Amino acid sequence: MVRSGASKKNLHYLITGLVDYRTGFFIPGGNDCSFSFGVTELVRDGQKGPIILIANIDYNVRESQRARNVTLKVSRRCGLEVVVPEGFDHQLVPKILTSRQDWIDDQLRRIESMPGRFDENWPPKQLYLQAAGTEFELMYREVSGNRINLEQEGSRIEISQPAEADDESLVSLFVSWLKDYAKQHYAGLAEELSEESGLNYKKLVVRGQKTRWGSYSSRGTLSLNYKLLFLPEQLLRHVILHELSHSVHMNHSEKFWHLLNQLDPDTPMHDTQLSQAWKYLPPWLD
Ligand SMILES: [Zn+2]
Repeated sequence: MVRSGASKKNLHYLITGLVDYRTGFFIPGGNDCSFSFGVTELVRDGQKGPIILIANIDYNVRESQRARNVTLKVSRRCGLEVVVPEGFDHQLVPKILTSRQDWIDDQLRRIESMPGRFDENWPPKQLYLQAAGTEFELMYREVSGNRINLEQEGSRIEISQPAEADDESLVSLFVSWLKDYAKQHYAGLAEELSEESGLNYKKLVVRGQKTRWGSYSSRGTLSLNYKLLFLPEQLLRHVILHELSHSVHMNHSEKFWHLLNQLDPDTPMHDTQLSQAWKYLPPWLD
């Protein structure tokens, strides 16, 4: 489809990128086509040049009402996707891609070499929740009907699922069980640390944020990521102490760090470990 009415002013190409938390690679992406935990990079390019068609790259152009820039996204699932503002002249796309060809090639290569979420270890035979010090054996049973179900008894988890159940529904089942488990486990620990530190919270919630391990709201809600279950226990404790310290300082000021260092003298080390903690998460956990 060719559209007219392209903007005459210099184009600003917004290139968003994310760091894949399993490989540490910088990859472009966003929303449902990304791997999360991100940084973004703004690249301005107002250069003019001949339109050269790119060979060997399949791409989709998607018009978005909300888009104000041209965004390139590369992901395993979607390949190369070009998101353009409504009414954008599609003839300009090849030129944009050409100007970014090295970068695109690089990203596509990285994605190719990345392990998939559902590799040879899927579905998991064990779940090791390091932070809770628990390990579960998983058993799978095929059933008729269309219900997929999880039952835990002691250290055994039995999954019953129809033969045609897809991987994503099994992941959802694990995630909801993990959230429940996290809620139970975190409650006791948060209470204990609150008592020890004299720092309070009103309510504990468990979430599955993509970019945060935890947060603390001005209303006193302590929010913790269920994925912390897969991390070493001291990192879970550190995140809780970090968030509780926000009950006194709602910022990351010097006073905040002073308080946190008093509660956890290993704060610098734990923060470094947290920034690499994606490696503890199973690949299927998106
Ligand atoms: Zn903070």
